[in-house]
Amino acid sequence: MREVLIIGGGAAGLMAAVAAKEQNAAARVVLLEAGARVGKKLLSTGNGRCNLTNVGARAEDYASAEVAEVLAQNTPRRVMERFERMGLVCRLEGEGRVYPASDAASSVLDALRLTAAHLGVEEVVGFCAEQVMRGKKGFTVRAQDERSAQGDRLILACGGRAASQCTGYALAEKLGHTVTQLRPALLPVKTDGAGIRGLNGVRCRCVATLLCDGRTVLREEGEVLFKDFGLSGIAVFQLTRAMARQEGQFEIELDLLPQMGDAQAEELILRRAQALSWRGSEAFLLGMFHKNVSANLLKMAGIGPGRMEGVPEAQLRKLARLMKHWRHAVTGVQGFQNAQVTVGGVPMSEVDGKTLASCVCPGLYLAGEILDVDGPCGGYNLQWAWASGAAAGTYAAKE
Ligand SMILES: Cc1cc2nc3c(=O)[nH]c(=O)nc-3n(C[C@H](O)[C@H](O)[C@H](O)COP(=O)(O)OP(=O)(O)OC[C@H]3O[C@@H](n4cnc5c(N)ncnc54)[C@H](O)[C@@H]3O)c2cc1C
Repeated sequence: MREVLIIGGGAAGLMAAVAAKEQNAAARVVLLEAGARVGKKLLSTGNGRCNLTNVGARAEDYASAEVAEVLAQNTPRRVMERFERMGLVCRLEGEGRVYPASDAASSVLDALRLTAAHLGVEEVVGFCAEQVMRGKKGFTVRAQDERSAQGDRLILACGGRAASQCTGYALAEKLGHTVTQLRPALLPVKTDGAGIRGLNGVRCRCVATLLCDGRTVLREEGEVLFKDFGLSGIAVFQLTRAMARQEGQFEIELDLLPQMGDAQAEELILRRAQALSWRGSEAFLLGMFHKNVSANLLKMAGIGPGRMEGVPEAQLRKLARLMKHWRHAVTGVQGFQNAQVTVGGVPMSEVDGKTLASCVCPGLYLAGEILDVDGPCGGYNLQWAWASGAAAGTYAAKE
């Protein structure tokens, strides 16, 4: 009888367990989870709503091109169908994002847990796998507390370092794999503080551009959230994936008026200064931006309190330029605990692109974030977890 051990009861591990049982009902499938319960991280995804996939997800959206075969077998539509079979109703929202109709991440976890239990998956919690051995009969996995489990197939679905207490990179290395440099991504950045004072909690829609040593790397349109330590929000999160892949001095430039060019912005400010010359500077930008953003921009442009009448044209031009090119020097990123995903991991080149079977250790499969695969915000990372979990579970359980 096939015996499949899965280390890690997160998104990928749970999906692998369900897929393994669906593939081979007679197989013994054991899910080993370090935490007190499976799938805890899922509950905090999508701000508690779980953005479970994105209907637009394609291989090109991920850092590694080698994800194509797995994603083609388990497209976002197929993942949604799978969840619907588990009783979950999915709802499509803007930009291709898919959520459970209940708006509760717990229903995604419950759908998986209940299905796994119904199919006969054995769940062992509080089992932090510390050692793994491969012998003639298969794998023996030992926990910190000396408990052990055996199986002839092993799936490593231990996730990454992002928001995780426990990982499985050492286990992968023990079994012959390499692990590339690990960096946090999809997280807030720290900036030098100039210009953001008093803005904690303020949001604005804009275009955020990442520059590395003055060179443009990536542009993202979306929401930026000012924090007392720097910048957050989805547009900034997306830029951090590119930051994790290169070295240099980073800056983030905010364009608060992306609907117009530099010349138009300048014209707008000069015209507005004429029409509202009677107004006090503190109300000059009223209706354009949050009042604290306006106050900071005016201060940086050197426009002090008093009527707009008489403000030199050079300062008005500087103000217009700041609205289009407001630069923030990046001093770092917050740590793994504040990240949504890990950049780096076991290279896809070390697994079969279709089955996710290890190329270095027969009987071993890898799935989810432990692999060097990361995608943008918007349901792409869970899509990878489900797709890779389904592939690894299906092929590992085959007789
Ligand atoms: C706050 C937050 C919000 C997010 N929101 C979204 C979102 O809305 N949409 C989206 O697509 N992605 C989102 N993500 C990313 C997504 O959650 C991950 O990409 C996904 O969970 C990865 O799945 P995984 O199964 O590989 O790893 P995980 O979900 O991290 O699961 C790994 C499991 O393995 C266990 N484990 C680790 N090591 C061991 C060990 N040695 N022994 C036993 N067990 C072990 C862990 O305890 C964990 O339960 C979010 C991430 C965070 C942190």
